[in-house]
Amino acid sequence: TGGTARREFVAAIDQGTTSSRCIVFDRDGEVVSIDSREHAQILPRPGWVEHDATEIWENVRSVVDGALRKADVPVSAIRALGITNQRETTLLWDRATGQPAHNAIVWQDTRTDALCRELGGDIGQDRYRRATGLPLASYFAGPKIRWLLDNVPGLRERAENGELLFGTMDSWVIWNLTGGTEGGIHVTDVTNASRTLLMDLRTLQWDEEICASMGVPMSVLPEIRSSAEVYGTATGTLDGVPVASALGDQQAALFGQTCFTRGEAKSTYGTGTFLLLNTGEDIVGSTSGLVTTVGYRIGAEPAVYALEGSIAVTGSLVQWMRDQMGVISDASEIEALARTVEDNGGAYFVPAFSGLFAPHWRSDARGVIAGLTRYVTRAHLARAVLEATAWQTREIVDAMTQDSGVRLATLRVDGGMTANDLLLQIIADFVDAPVVRPVVTETTSLGAAYAAGLAVGFWPDTNALRAHWKKDAEWVPRMDPVIRDREYTYWLKAVDRTMGWLD
Ligand code: ADP
Repeated sequence: TGGTARREFVAAIDQGTTSSRCIVFDRDGEVVSIDSREHAQILPRPGWVEHDATEIWENVRSVVDGALRKADVPVSAIRALGITNQRETTLLWDRATGQPAHNAIVWQDTRTDALCRELGGDIGQDRYRRATGLPLASYFAGPKIRWLLDNVPGLRERAENGELLFGTMDSWVIWNLTGGTEGGIHVTDVTNASRTLLMDLRTLQWDEEICASMGVPMSVLPEIRSSAEVYGTATGTLDGVPVASALGDQQAALFGQTCFTRGEAKSTYGTGTFLLLNTGEDIVGSTSGLVTTVGYRIGAEPAVYALEGSIAVTGSLVQWMRDQMGVISDASEIEALARTVEDNGGAYFVPAFSGLFAPHWRSDARGVIAGLTRYVTRAHLARAVLEATAWQTREIVDAMTQDSGVRLATLRVDGGMTANDLLLQIIADFVDAPVVRPVVTETTSLGAAYAAGLAVGFWPDTNALRAHWKKDAEWVPRMDPVIRDREYTYWLKAVDRTMGWLD
């Protein structure tokens, strides 16, 4: 680029759990500008987490304006817009007024725990696993729709009259971007749909029988499209720009890390942590507590699948230490504090705040700090917080080895927590594999931009994208295996103590 060639760009919107961002990328996949805005976390009761979808849409509009202003490029130079989003977070809105029918129920919310057990009946958690790749857990979207229809007065009737639309945040953002009440399009992509418990992984369509048994009228559901194709055209600030990709945030990160080959894996350390392994066109079922999900689908090409290990609480534990406990005043301080001690002082922190996701899937688990003595200081706890992220990663990697028979060669990492070098060393030590961080850690937005750019021919193919990936730093394991094994035993003991808390 440069010279006399006209400079062109792709923009991505990342509607995340804690914030919404817009990033403008150039043809080399480098960040040109970025704008972001946090939204409120609404915590009405223990275990409940909501977002105000109107606030989110306002933030999205504002960060799009901000990123364009900072990039100082005309809208006509933006070739395509990609969307990535927090997954599973569930919204119903009124098709005529555009008003949300209720706050969005966030993926971390455990209110559907009892409902999920009821839906499982005699078969239990695996009732829909063969078709959907997922265990019945409060994490996923379908039961959240059912909860809203059962518990918010008037909603079931409005849904059955065809007045309501369901969407995860990709659908909400795209519908608003493309005109809202004036012709907004109601779509989702295969990756987001694969997190609802309502889509069949083989047909990539809504499963009528499952929708009926979950009590979700199909009239509320968006049309399922591929992850990279032109869905429609934006209005507003981005007037005329093709809206050309949608990917759940974790699948977008897999794409942004250019894990296009079977066997390649990435782990994203944000609010939660999500490790995805590309399994190619094979739908690999899990017997070790992982989930099977769609990795991405480019236009009419066959879908690429992934095995996923989902961890609910990692970065949000650091936030909790900051906001609820006041131990630190900024997330980045946790590293310096943890470095003031050699080890955890005997303390183990299992942050089962939203139950435990993979590989346990126990919505009834609650957090514990185990091994406390008077010796333990806030610095030991800071260390235990980082170790919690690393041990949870280890549990996922063990499950992946069991399910796929492949031992992880290296782990590509990204996300906000990977600014923490000590954490990455601990992960390399606990997992016993090298950990590699790329130069661009905004892989989620980058993945959405890549998919949108492919859809409009801005980049020719995935090989062109691979050439952009560059290593920043690598951490190799250096822990004494005897100590690692002993520590892992203590961790697993602490995990045991979280279970059945609500019995
Ligand atoms: P998300 O996209 O899920 O909102 P990000 O990728 O932006 O999350 O990462 C933010 C998370 O990372 C927050 O939960 C924050 O507590 C955590 N975090 C940020 N910096 C650090 C750090 N230096 N050490 C540990 N955790 C951090």
